[in-house]
Amino acid sequence: MSLLAEDTGVADLGLRWKPGFHALGPAFLTDLRPTPLPDPYWVGRSEAVARDLGLPPDWHSSHATLAALTGSLPIAGTSPFATVYSGHQFGVWAGQLGDGRAIMLGETEGGLEVQLKGAGRTPYSRGGDGRAVLRSSIREFLCSEAMHGLGIPTTRALCVTGSDARIYREEVESAAVVTRVAPSFVRFGHFEHFAANQREDELRALADYVIDRYYPACHTTERFGGNAYAAFLEAVSERTAALLAQWQAVGFCHGVMNTDNMSILGLTIDYGPFQFLDGFDPRHICNHSDTNGRYAFNQQPNVAYWNLFCLAQALLPLIGDQEVAVAALESYKTVFPNEFEGRMRAKLGLAEAAEGDRPLIEGVLKLLAAGKVDYTIFWRRLSGFMADGNVEPVRDLFLDREGFDAWMLSFSERHASTDRALAAKLMRRTNPKFVLRNHLGQQAIEASQQKDHSGVATLLAVLQTPFEEHPGADAYAGFPPDWASTIEISCSS
Ligand code: AMP
Ligand code: MG
Repeated sequence: MSLLAEDTGVADLGLRWKPGFHALGPAFLTDLRPTPLPDPYWVGRSEAVARDLGLPPDWHSSHATLAALTGSLPIAGTSPFATVYSGHQFGVWAGQLGDGRAIMLGETEGGLEVQLKGAGRTPYSRGGDGRAVLRSSIREFLCSEAMHGLGIPTTRALCVTGSDARIYREEVESAAVVTRVAPSFVRFGHFEHFAANQREDELRALADYVIDRYYPACHTTERFGGNAYAAFLEAVSERTAALLAQWQAVGFCHGVMNTDNMSILGLTIDYGPFQFLDGFDPRHICNHSDTNGRYAFNQQPNVAYWNLFCLAQALLPLIGDQEVAVAALESYKTVFPNEFEGRMRAKLGLAEAAEGDRPLIEGVLKLLAAGKVDYTIFWRRLSGFMADGNVEPVRDLFLDREGFDAWMLSFSERHASTDRALAAKLMRRTNPKFVLRNHLGQQAIEASQQKDHSGVATLLAVLQTPFEEHPGADAYAGFPPDWASTIEISCSS
């Protein structure tokens, strides 16, 4: 299906496109074209996303598609554009930002927006080159698919394509483009942009568009006296709370929770210096540029609330009443702890809530933190214990054996009347065997930089179904090597 009509110089992906966000008009975006990159090559592809998009099975077989997804050839039926947004970065108002290197191809008839990240400069690039380096593109690609595999809401990635074009960061690196896919890439920052510029008509148009498309129930709500915008804010707060509960339960640190990196759909978006925790350290800072630890792991739930407050501020002209806006945010404070407790209970193999669960959860987290115990391995081994009754592999992880034994006693008491086989099953589909640890990504990246992209494909296959055993892939499930702690990931990508 992927044809290059020689006379038109256009690639046809075999997809149908609809206006989508573009229909909002020029106040929201700028029409443009991606800037070509020379001699593109495939780095990684997700067939799962290709299927979701409705691409034909041979979608990747033509050079035209490869060129088109690297921004070097127009795609039939699309009119690419970049959108404008603003935002708070590291707690400070940053003014206008926008898609500085992500170019939207459009929205498919199936309702998925497709973006090329790293496809060249836009009017919102500010000083940047509009490019993304291979290293960070592989990280975004793998992590999007890993998060989806974990059941965590996220933008997806169809593929990474590379080019040997030179990109200047701290060192010279090679370029890449990630084809990102999501129902919507609208961020809190889109709303902040029009609110800050006192453009109430555009603010309303944007809110109406997002509500119509993604939160239609808000139009007929009876909450807040039928105030659709307050109901919208509440719904976004709840989705964000649920997302944060999932991040905290799996040990995911985002690293740059600026308001322009917060999805209005409650998706994980903009993978930069993210990290899955190795040893459990609640104060872990994964972003080398975050010197004050604003986005430390244990700060994330509060930062999300702070960001929602910025969104509330932006929506205030539409909501019309400050008290109502504050009330709409309130649900975050109950949804987050409830969702978090529910997720942690499942990790403990507990299908039902009971009194005393909270101290059990807090107790284990305290123990894990005290010993900086490997977070993923602990939970997987605990799942193994539930299945076979052998506590030693779990106990071995702790130096404080006494503390562990005491916690284990209350854990076993709580499970006194549990069907252990059932609980083990629940735990094994809640506690992943595989997460995208920094060093795993790094190994795949280094091989790719030497033109061996097989590591990206192998890692992807494991991360897409991270709860399965994958015999033979145990190297991806082990402790991180010593050098893992020396990997420095910053905003520069
Ligand atoms: P981030 O923190 O990566 O989400 O990026 C913050 C802002 O900087 C966004 O508006 C990006 O589009 C923009 N940006 C980041 N890197 C580049 C780049 N290399 N060229 C142009 N804009 C960029
Ligand atoms: Mg961003």
